[in-house]
Amino acid sequence: MSAGERFLPYGRQSIEADDIARVAEVLQADYLTTGPLIARFEEAFAEAVGARHAVVSNSGTAALHLATHAAGLGPGDVAIVPSVTFLATANAVRYVGAEVVFADVDPENGLLTAETAEAALARAGAMGRPRAILPVHLNGHSVDMVAIRALAERQGLAVIEDACHAIGGSHPAGNGAMAAVGACAASDFACFSLHPVKTITMGEGGVTTTSDSAAFQRMSRFRSHGMVREAAQFEQRALAFAPDGEVNPWYYEMPEPGFNYRATDFACALGLSQLGKLARFAARRREMRARYDRLLKPLAPIVRPVRPTSGDAVLHLYAVLIEFDMLGLDRAAAMRRLKDEGIGTMVHYLPVHMQPYYRHRYGTSVLEGAEAYYRRVLSIPFHPGMSDADIDRVVAALERLARRAHAA
Ligand SMILES: *Cc1c(COP(=O)(O)O)cnc(C)c1O
Repeated sequence: MSAGERFLPYGRQSIEADDIARVAEVLQADYLTTGPLIARFEEAFAEAVGARHAVVSNSGTAALHLATHAAGLGPGDVAIVPSVTFLATANAVRYVGAEVVFADVDPENGLLTAETAEAALARAGAMGRPRAILPVHLNGHSVDMVAIRALAERQGLAVIEDACHAIGGSHPAGNGAMAAVGACAASDFACFSLHPVKTITMGEGGVTTTSDSAAFQRMSRFRSHGMVREAAQFEQRALAFAPDGEVNPWYYEMPEPGFNYRATDFACALGLSQLGKLARFAARRREMRARYDRLLKPLAPIVRPVRPTSGDAVLHLYAVLIEFDMLGLDRAAAMRRLKDEGIGTMVHYLPVHMQPYYRHRYGTSVLEGAEAYYRRVLSIPFHPGMSDADIDRVVAALERLARRAHAA
């Protein structure tokens, strides 16, 4: 890294002065939590992704747990999860006592396919009743939801999209139509994260979208201890109502225990402000992707972008596949070399079936597509704060790496 060149992390939030002002306003207002910003953010989010309902929570992990719970998953049930994802996709299945069957992925883009899902289903029977499938739109590239929906309908599975990487994009929804990611056109739930490294942020935060009003109510309750405050739903009428028929002012009920997954009002203020920038951030991400795609072409086959899928993706991560065998340099050494040039990279992800917890629980298995993807993948710097010159700098560093392979 020469003097004056910034370190480029693989991802980073883009916070602007108006984001800070919106948060500061809420910090001086009456409600820091359970205030008016919660519903305002949820309504704006639902509108932005074309969803009927949106429930905000305090992480993408909570958003996934709200969905697995509302889908009615529990002990004796099995859910299909692609192995190449963040831990939370699989953990959300375990939180409700269901078992995970890891599906293999396409080695060229890390995505679940109808074929790998079917192969996982064939293994699932021994572990319980298959009840759900959790496609992950890895890096922002969409899983083929039309094929997954068809499979889910044949097998009676709930579909929970892990859309944490895919906000702002759209994908084929059947009959030639396109739908926004999050509209749940071919799924029961879609889950988002607003962690700082994601496309928009609220510090920590998550959103679950659904078309199902009953599931929406259930998730809203589960997010806040399982508490019910609507008089019409009270079960213990003698405790709930005074002799004059009025609701006792202190009264609430808990039909089933929930969690405290509430987002704060100031986080929602940040989320609302960032949501207003989604179109601009998405446009910049599309431009940046096009520049990387074009400039990386000459580096194939040693370095090439992961294979895209149909749909209009807004990428969260820019992932390349590198043939480290041809480089004569292993991945850790390549990452250190890039870091010395001011370029941050990361691996997304170690396949989850290789984590000790899941190995101990389910035994060691081999998923060849996942492992082939994992061996070659590297996320390179990609966030709207980067200039075209920053992208050129990353490509030049990758070119120097690739040239070693030709020299070797
Ligand atoms: C970030 C992420 C999550 C979890 O979100 P948090 O907000 O960090 O809890 C889940 N799945 C995927 C694919 C993610 O990238």
